[in-house]
Amino acid sequence: MSQMEKIIVVGAGLMGTGIAYSCAISGYRILLVDANPSALDKAVGQINSLVAAGVKLGKLVEAAGKAALERLEAAIELDGRASDAALLIETATEKIDIKLAIIGKADELLPPEAIIASNTSALSISELAAATRRPTQFAGMHFFNPVHKMKLVELIRGIETTQATVERLKAVTAALGKTSIVVNEAPGFTTSRMSALMGNEAMYMLAEGVASADDIDTSLRMAFNHPMGPLELGDLTGWDTRLSVLQYLHQTMGEKFRPCPLIIKMVKAGRYGRKVGRGVYEYDAEGQKIAGSGLRRAG
Ligand code: NAD
Repeated sequence: MSQMEKIIVVGAGLMGTGIAYSCAISGYRILLVDANPSALDKAVGQINSLVAAGVKLGKLVEAAGKAALERLEAAIELDGRASDAALLIETATEKIDIKLAIIGKADELLPPEAIIASNTSALSISELAAATRRPTQFAGMHFFNPVHKMKLVELIRGIETTQATVERLKAVTAALGKTSIVVNEAPGFTTSRMSALMGNEAMYMLAEGVASADDIDTSLRMAFNHPMGPLELGDLTGWDTRLSVLQYLHQTMGEKFRPCPLIIKMVKAGRYGRKVGRGVYEYDAEGQKIAGSGLRRAG
């Protein structure tokens, strides 16, 4: 897939914004789609800020940043502009019905040779692929947050995914300057399965009053050298997304993934994490953690 080709990114939230930015600065033409106009405006604003920051830090030449922005288009629905795309990456809300509807429509509008990939954190790639007439050209393409900094893309084979599809996605991943691993479909793949379990256990410890949020996070950072603690990571991921993943893992893999009631309570309260300014911790307008803000005991 040549880098001048068009990639469509559907879902302009945390992940779609980062994926669109990474693809645009790597030379691809991008159509970014989100059903919510304010999410789309916010995403375009953030991509502009990421380009400006890249130029300021000397990581991006000014002309390259300008060219990347010129290659970016935004739309509130998938339309005829899909007819010349080489790849569509679905990265909307982690709900199977939303994803199936997007993928079914994409299959109708994309040219026959295009690949469809989903950035789902856990859902069945084979089930998503079955909503299309091209299950051999469908795979999971799991990015990590923040996309412009994280080097891994986990590629997931569904039951029908061909090696040719995997090879094309490996080439795109390499063109984005990232490393791919290829895994066979299983709920949560490798990464979400491990991360969801650890984050859930950390929340149980917080709810039980075993330690403060800060101390739980410090234990993982300083005892095991993780760059951030499990509660900080949940705040970064978004507890709404984390809860959807846990519910799916609980349903498919059993009791060890039962979501901690404190996560359910936080999502009901709208404490989704950093993206809304409050989760386990609270954040200022620049997204910086407010010192001393962690929930101490919230069972
Ligand atoms: P988010 O809530 O930040 O964004 C989701 C976006 O999807 C929203 O802007 C919403 O308006 C949009 N959307 C919903 N329905 C739509 C539709 N029908 N058409 C177009 N857009 C629609 O969520 P996110 O964190 O960016 O997660 C997106 C996907 O990426 C999920 O599948 C999630 O599991 C996965 N993922 C998330 C992370 C993470 O750390 N947050 C990491 C890897 C993968």
